[in-house]
Amino acid sequence: MDEVWILVKCICGNLFGSRKASFSSCPRCGSSKGKTQREFQSPKSLAEAVAASNLPLQISQEVESRIAAEQSRRAVLGEKTRGGPEAIRSIMRLSTGSDGRLTIKKLSSELEKEGYAEPSAEQVIGQAEMEGILFMADSESWYWL
Ligand SMILES: [Zn+2]
Repeated sequence: MDEVWILVKCICGNLFGSRKASFSSCPRCGSSKGKTQREFQSPKSLAEAVAASNLPLQISQEVESRIAAEQSRRAVLGEKTRGGPEAIRSIMRLSTGSDGRLTIKKLSSELEKEGYAEPSAEQVIGQAEMEGILFMADSESWYWL
């Protein structure tokens, strides 16, 4: 069976699945002006895509932004010279919480995750303080300047 299944996005924003050969109208608003987003070779993969598309918007955005963050993280770390100031700077950014503070604990775990034995988190912070990038918030965390 070479039947093709399509994931359709309606003008009303609803996503639904259909056979390509017998495109149906939107089950929510009845419009047939939907646009095909993707094609599938099996109803099963279509069903999965529909289910994923109809995740509550916020959750799917969160998942997407997490994936995007992970991809850019890899790209940044991959492109920059290992151990260079830019690579270290990106690790520092990854170690910064949503409150804008970089903690030494997080920094050392991120350095470890990236496989750095040197420089240590203390050295990175010491250097950044000298450069005037960070200033101490308390004994464990730093703010960016
Ligand atoms: Zn619709």
